[in-house]
Formats: sequence, C-alpha cells, structure tokens
Amino acid sequence: MEISEHEIVNTLAKVAGANSVDIIGELDQESEMDEFSLAERLGMDVKTVRKILYKLYDSRLVKFRRIKDEETGWYIYLWKFENEKLKGLVEKMRRERVQNLHERLDYEKNNQFFMCDSGCIRVPFDRAMEMGFTCQHCGASMNFVDNSHIIDQLEKQLSEIEKVIGY
Ligand SMILES: [Zn+2]
Repeated sequence: MEISEHEIVNTLAKVAGANSVDIIGELDQESEMDEFSLAERLGMDVKTVRKILYKLYDSRLVKFRRIKDEETGWYIYLWKFENEKLKGLVEKMRRERVQNLHERLDYEKNNQFFMCDSGCIRVPFDRAMEMGFTCQHCGASMNFVDNSHIIDQLEKQLSEIEKVIGY
C-alpha cells in the first residue's frame, strides 16, 4: 500500500503535534538518538523534545532503551523510530476516515434538510418540524434545501480515498 508524505505528516501532526514531523525526520536517519542530541540538532529545547517523544511513545511510534552514563551516573534514553508502526497508524486513520465519510453520506442520503434563507442553521426534517419550520436564530421560515451537492462531494471524497486504499 502506497503511503504519501502528506498522509505521514498529517498523521504525525495529529498524534504528536507539527514539531513531531521534524523529530521523526531526524530519528529516521539514525538507528537511535538521545533527546539532547535531538534538541540540539533541531534547535528546540529539551523539554519540548521530551514532551513530543512521550506523545510519540504513547502512539507506539518510537521506543527507547535506557543506558547508564558511567561518568555522571545518570541515565540516558536512546530513542528509536518504529517505521512499521507509523504505516499501521496511517492505515488505521484512513479506515476511520472512510468510515466517517460513509456515516456522513448515509446521514445526508437518509434525511431531508431545512434552512432559513440566511443559512443560520441546517437541520433535518424532524428537528425542523419541532421548530415549527421557523429559524430560532433569525425568526425566518425554514425551507427545504437540496443537499445533492453535499452528497456528490462526499461520494467524490470516498471514491478518491477508496481508490488509494484499493477497496
Ligand atoms: Zn435564520
């Protein structure tokens, strides 16, 4: 399965913030790195780097091993990027996106929607009936609105993503 750079960046940003993309970029080039070297190379402070590493660790995208510095007696954490786990996570997010699009599409297809001319709020038929077909925001009457363009958009997005996945 092809995974685009764009999907990787989006996935990383979602789980650990935009800065995590740079950290993974560095870790990807080395077999393992400690957080001080990472901070120095990226011009970031160690606390920030550590915070991001923990988030990445929560998502199983990095792992670490601890070694003892013989001189100082302190522990050093060496971090390693788990490339295969990232692919798995990207795929999982794709599946979630597909499911979400299917749910939205079903909702659009199975409902009739109503809205005032100002477009304050769009509600399905049941809700519009409860509201007496009167907009609660502006007081204007609510009319049926055609949602076929929304359905078209969702179907287009779905077919694009499903083409990539190969469903
Ligand atoms: Zn209104």
